[in-house]
Amino acid sequence: LAERLQGTIQKIKGKGKVSEQDVKEMMREVRFALIEADVNLKVVKDFVKRVSERAVGADVMKSLTPGQQVIKIVQDELQQLMGGEQSPIKFNTKPPTVIMMVGLQGAGKTTTTGKLANVLRKKYNRKPLLVAADIYRPAAIQQLETLGKQLSLPVFSLGNQVSPVEIARQAIEKAKEEHLDVVIIDTAGRLHIDEELMQELKDIRSLKEPDEVFLVVDAMTGQDAVNVAKSFDEAVGITGVVLTKLDGDTRGGAALSIRAVTEKPIKFVGMGEKMDALEPFHPERMASRILGMGDVLSLIEKAQAEVDMDKAKELEEKFMTQTFTFDDFIEQLQAVKKMGPLDEILKMIPGASKIKGLDNAKVDEKQMAHIEAIIYSMTPAEKTNPEIITASRKKRIAKGSGTSIQEINRLLKQFEDMKKMMKQMTSMAGGKGKKKMKL
Ligand code: GDP
Ligand code: MG
Repeated sequence: LAERLQGTIQKIKGKGKVSEQDVKEMMREVRFALIEADVNLKVVKDFVKRVSERAVGADVMKSLTPGQQVIKIVQDELQQLMGGEQSPIKFNTKPPTVIMMVGLQGAGKTTTTGKLANVLRKKYNRKPLLVAADIYRPAAIQQLETLGKQLSLPVFSLGNQVSPVEIARQAIEKAKEEHLDVVIIDTAGRLHIDEELMQELKDIRSLKEPDEVFLVVDAMTGQDAVNVAKSFDEAVGITGVVLTKLDGDTRGGAALSIRAVTEKPIKFVGMGEKMDALEPFHPERMASRILGMGDVLSLIEKAQAEVDMDKAKELEEKFMTQTFTFDDFIEQLQAVKKMGPLDEILKMIPGASKIKGLDNAKVDEKQMAHIEAIIYSMTPAEKTNPEIITASRKKRIAKGSGTSIQEINRLLKQFEDMKKMMKQMTSMAGGKGKKKMKL
């Protein structure tokens, strides 16, 4: 989906003037892209109609950058399509909060139950109880117990001879007694939707009205996921969707249609099999990523908040005159650090996801800390004139910073390379008689 749309966007981006014909052409591409991505047909139709109407509006045509305006509209509407804002978990003011996990077999209910409990504990400071209410699938109870052990979280089970409704009832009692404030019930799935399954879910539901009923669906099943969501919502009633296996979903069709078809928000997305691979779903970020623009908006916002513009100007001057020192370097490093964890920042950079190895790269925060330590162990003279750093000085710095000579050599080399690059860039810019340096 992303690739096709990106091509179209490149075409229209720089246009100083956009005709109705241009918009039509672009919309045709968008329509193809969405259909190819397995987005629900009616959703596609409505979407294209809405964007077209806005795009040929007078404001856009008269604006200075109509091409970009059109793209902005597409992005806006994509975001709206996916629910607009991030949808939070609804907690009960009178604990325990009850969350029911429903869905077809293999969708990822049990795995997500574990991941969700982990999120609830880590980010929300809650005490979850995991409930094994899938008594049909062999080893389902054990699977949840294993996850519980792995996470050091309590799991409630009564084996497979007691009815799921009774298991749920007793689990809620136990949570009250032991002051566990969230109960997550992992229910059984079937290979397809059937009456018996739905009745069982309704029975559990009627026990105590759950605060959330999360439908877990596999993103890779595309349109099927949307149909499943619709059926479950009609039969049992759901409050939100968890879209799993988004890490393997290249088309994004389910993410785009589910909200529009069911009017239920996607609350979380599963990005892998591990217990920390569950993320809140942000429609805005997803829209940007689909359009291949990274999360540029929030990146710019963050940068503007953290980087002082005067400072930026000053650094630019230093680049030009080649008086950039390690002091400046560390100042910059700190400005970047304030923006947040590095791997988060990288994710927001357009195209960064395409660089091999970077997509999953955990940027090493430890390495950053080492770099800082090294610079702090330098004398003022060394920071200004790294050339004077001899072998014995390196030894002293290594000792002072708790790092190694190799690390110091690497940093010095990187710093030299950086300066060389700046020199090239500034002389290039100077040759044209224009300042081209941008931070
Ligand atoms: P259930 O039958 O609905 O309980 O599904 P399970 O939780 O047993 O998951 C089925 C399979 O999907 C397991 O192998 C999981 O590891 C895998 N799985 C679940 N969520 C994700 C995800 O977000 N990404 C990936 N790649 N695999 C997942
Ligand atoms: Mg299961």
